[in-house]
Amino acid sequence: MTEHSARVSDVSFIDMEESHTSGVYAKRQLTIVRGEGAYLYDEAGNRYIDCVGGQGAANIGHAHPAVVAAIRDQAGTLLSCPEIFYNDKRALLLEKLTQLAGMPRAFLSNSGAESVEAALKFAKLATGRKGIIAAMRGFHGRTMGALSATWEPKYREPFEPGVPGYSHIPYNDLTAAEAAITDQTAAVMVEIVQGEGGVRPGDGDYFRALQALCHQRGAMFIVDEVQTGFGRTGKMFAHQHYGLQPDLMPTAKSIAGGLPFGACLIGERVGKLQPAMHGTTFGGNPLACAAAIATLDVLVNEDLPGRAAALGGFLMERLGDLPTRFREKVREVRGLGLLFGIELRGKVAPVLKALQERGVLALPAGLNVLRLLPPLVISKDDLEIVAQAIESVLAADTTA
Ligand code: PMP
Repeated sequence: MTEHSARVSDVSFIDMEESHTSGVYAKRQLTIVRGEGAYLYDEAGNRYIDCVGGQGAANIGHAHPAVVAAIRDQAGTLLSCPEIFYNDKRALLLEKLTQLAGMPRAFLSNSGAESVEAALKFAKLATGRKGIIAAMRGFHGRTMGALSATWEPKYREPFEPGVPGYSHIPYNDLTAAEAAITDQTAAVMVEIVQGEGGVRPGDGDYFRALQALCHQRGAMFIVDEVQTGFGRTGKMFAHQHYGLQPDLMPTAKSIAGGLPFGACLIGERVGKLQPAMHGTTFGGNPLACAAAIATLDVLVNEDLPGRAAALGGFLMERLGDLPTRFREKVREVRGLGLLFGIELRGKVAPVLKALQERGVLALPAGLNVLRLLPPLVISKDDLEIVAQAIESVLAADTTA
């Protein structure tokens, strides 16, 4: 037993949650009560290096003072303001966000799945077509439209029939795309790095050709940047690595510093949409808009995309040779910026547990991939500690 596992003293909250929670989440025996920068703290005051990063929602770090101040200020000014009215914070956010994305418009939502739903509906409206093509191993969310585009059968099959007209093609395979996209295809949707599907980056040439194919055949090109957006991969948006111009770009997670929020960016090929075609009560609420303005300022002013690129390079230098050093345990190391994956030959669950005992919290991506999504403000020294913890867990006999 290490110090971290021995000092857990939060049994009562765990019991309370267990009695009443839905049951749809596999939970760890840990109650997190506070965060600061790239650290999380449990109820007993133990500090952890956070490589979960709010599952991608904490790119600017926990409790960033600029976002805390913006939320405090806006909470005392105006919380609710549906989009039947204009609003100062919404206007400012829309201007900033569209400028950063290089796309003219945005629909504001409350989550990643909602942003994806918006993209799917807007693609159908813009083309008058019904077909949606997504990629094998892609993940797009749990609502019915987004779920129908999600590949993992375990998530999808219990809820079949899904939305009609969806199909999946192999990722990073242009020939498959050429065969699949027809004059009935409303949209093709991909991630630049498949996050949940195992941290799998696609090739720039593939994405450029896929975008061209969508244009030729009159389909919308949707790039799901819910996980890759807001600096995570080393650019503000991952498609900017390859000079792409998506027609629709769902985003969420880190957009508002951790507050629930999302946006589906809308390109020129989609154009302006008609009233009553879509909507949501909380979309564009002033609280989340104020938090998002502050978050985007932090991302730009602290050059967090540049930091993610540099620190991702460091991690790759540091851990890229794990498949050679731990041949029987590690299959591959891959990633882009600070979206980092280590594919193991065995299960990832015991590795996650052993890392937690060493004070490092990390994520899985599927059954075999260890995924690191640290806040982009993490220090190089802490990443070195994370690297050493991973090495020490791999070196231990218990993780076969
Ligand atoms: N798209 C991608 C690429 C994602 O990674 C996720 C969440 N992991 C979603 C969509 C769904 O986002 P949310 O959980 O906010 O609905």
